[in-house]
Amino acid sequence: MYWNKEAETMPREKLESVQLLRLQETVKRAYQNVAFYRDALDRRGIKPDDIRSLSDVSQLPFTTKQDFRDTYPFGLVAVPMNRVVRIHASSGTTGKPVTAYYTQKDLDVWAELMARVMTAGELRKGDIIQNAYGYGLFTGGLGAHDGAQLVGAAVVPSSVGNSRRQILLIQDLGVTALACTPSYALIIGETGRELGTDLAKTSKLRVGFFGAEPCSEPMRKEIEDCLGLKALDIYGLTEILGPGVAHECMNQRGLHLAEDNFLVEVIDPETGRSLPPGQKGELVLTTLNKEAMPVLRYRTRDIVSLYPDTCPCGRTFVRMTKITGRTDDMLIVRGVNVFPSQIEDALLRVDGLEPHYQIVVDRDSHLDELEVWVEVSEDIFTDEIAPLETLELKVRKELESVLGIWTRVRLVEPGTLERSEGKAKRVIDRRDLGKR
Ligand code: ADP
Ligand code: ZN
Repeated sequence: MYWNKEAETMPREKLESVQLLRLQETVKRAYQNVAFYRDALDRRGIKPDDIRSLSDVSQLPFTTKQDFRDTYPFGLVAVPMNRVVRIHASSGTTGKPVTAYYTQKDLDVWAELMARVMTAGELRKGDIIQNAYGYGLFTGGLGAHDGAQLVGAAVVPSSVGNSRRQILLIQDLGVTALACTPSYALIIGETGRELGTDLAKTSKLRVGFFGAEPCSEPMRKEIEDCLGLKALDIYGLTEILGPGVAHECMNQRGLHLAEDNFLVEVIDPETGRSLPPGQKGELVLTTLNKEAMPVLRYRTRDIVSLYPDTCPCGRTFVRMTKITGRTDDMLIVRGVNVFPSQIEDALLRVDGLEPHYQIVVDRDSHLDELEVWVEVSEDIFTDEIAPLETLELKVRKELESVLGIWTRVRLVEPGTLERSEGKAKRVIDRRDLGKR
């Protein structure tokens, strides 16, 4: 099912000609209206007219998160401020938030992209969708809201938090779809169980739109089992738009990137060079259809690879793998690169563990120590030590085989690790403390 069949199934050749026109237009507007881009292009001796083919994008400068911070608050805005009708800010997971600006047309495009996301999950008029993304500066809340409303579904704007009320509404209203972070989806499932409500059996939930943070396959399975729905991964970022940049279809094999609106590159994060489909690298996005804040070659720091084949759903937009990590949440432990997602993957393969964990990195004399705290299922956490010791050994072995380094494991009681209603904070790095 498509929201905009013509766009979503556009033949490749046509798509590329649309992309080129939009790219040329975007570069022109950025050059004329944004001093930051004019200076950057001038420094490279490039004029907007030099962009004659899609591959010429590689001549353009990158934009980084730091550039957003340096030009904060209005430095990247390309329209008079009286044309801006909304301002959002990123969640600030990795530092000072950045702000994003939208004209009315930008909001219309955003709603359309989110309508495509939701239609891909078979949401339609008559559905009731509970939107438990945080409403406010965060793009998740209003982004999902506008898309669902455009589709014609009834939106329950529950926002994040108050899980008991969330469950009550899901049950009483016969809610059929849920939108929130995967962390929060788990909390809703867990709270249901505590209340003796098995949402998988008693609710009408059918589909979930979960994004804004990584979610491994085993974690997805866990969410699907405890809520009784199909969990679709959705991706987006404030600098580029918000949610709606990429999404899964019912095949759940890769996220389709809305290529009529974004030009996609995957680069080697070290050299900045472009990588062919299939190779893992940093996702770089150029907006092709944004008025208030066009962005050239944004380095997302998200690690993906592109699928070389087309999807049976008929969408011609390229698919990317689920995000396996951010270049900036990669930990270097004793010289080895470790992504929290690898740890999550390993943990959820072991029976008897709950999907709640925390990673603590510390330095013991001169050696990095990686410790993984993970909750154990209720039925295993008894007074007897033996089963726990066996389990701990199993977890250590699993982690070692995935990471290639030795780790410490601490099994903790169910319910003891801090829960997050937005994006989970998985890593505590104590190595930098006390340096100053
Ligand atoms: P912040 O960078 O402060 O977290 P945002 O709220 O804009 O700001 O978050 C965007 C980032 O969230 C993306 O760059 C990506 O790292 C992460 N993200 C968004 N959606 C997903 C997803 N489906 N899977 C994994 N990570 C995601
Ligand atoms: Zn598909």
